[in-house]
Amino acid sequence: MRYIEPMAKLIEHFRALPGIGSKTAVRLAYHILDMEPAQAKALAQAIIEAKEKIGYCSICFNLTDTDPCAICSSPARDHSTICVVEQPKDVVAMERMRDYKGVYHVLHGALSPIEGIGPEDIKVKELLTRLYDENVKEVIMATNPNIEGEATAMYIAKLLKPLGIKVTRIAHGLPVGGDLEYADEVTLAKAIENRREM
Ligand SMILES: [Zn+2]
Repeated sequence: MRYIEPMAKLIEHFRALPGIGSKTAVRLAYHILDMEPAQAKALAQAIIEAKEKIGYCSICFNLTDTDPCAICSSPARDHSTICVVEQPKDVVAMERMRDYKGVYHVLHGALSPIEGIGPEDIKVKELLTRLYDENVKEVIMATNPNIEGEATAMYIAKLLKPLGIKVTRIAHGLPVGGDLEYADEVTLAKAIENRREM
């Protein structure tokens, strides 16, 4: 059966989202049609607003609605310690823990020769620029504990060694292959506490 055009379009958009299969896409589209017009409009408006107001921090590349972001512009944070993560969602995981008082750098990916992702495809250059400009004492590599994350940590550690900056790697309390975002607060706090110099 073919859906009428506006419905087919809606289903197509849902299906393009991560983790949404055909059945779910159809279910969501029917749900939207059942909504009160005001509610559906509010949803559409929220999507537009999020896209318009949220961008990347020009310093740490985390998602933000102000530039620099709240963390980069906070005098309460320790700007001499930078925690390097792969994605903005990793910053959320770290902040949930509440123990970390330093700042962040979001790479937006990890090195992966198989997928053709090299240093120029992630925010490595931007990290180096920060290290020259800011008075940084320690860089904590908190990339994911998988092959790509480890390779990225090693690569950056090698780059930073000549600069005389202490580079540490979070401990392996994290489940191997697991993402930072799924680690509970206690595990993450331990991983940071037990970080070792690279
Ligand atoms: Zn920032």
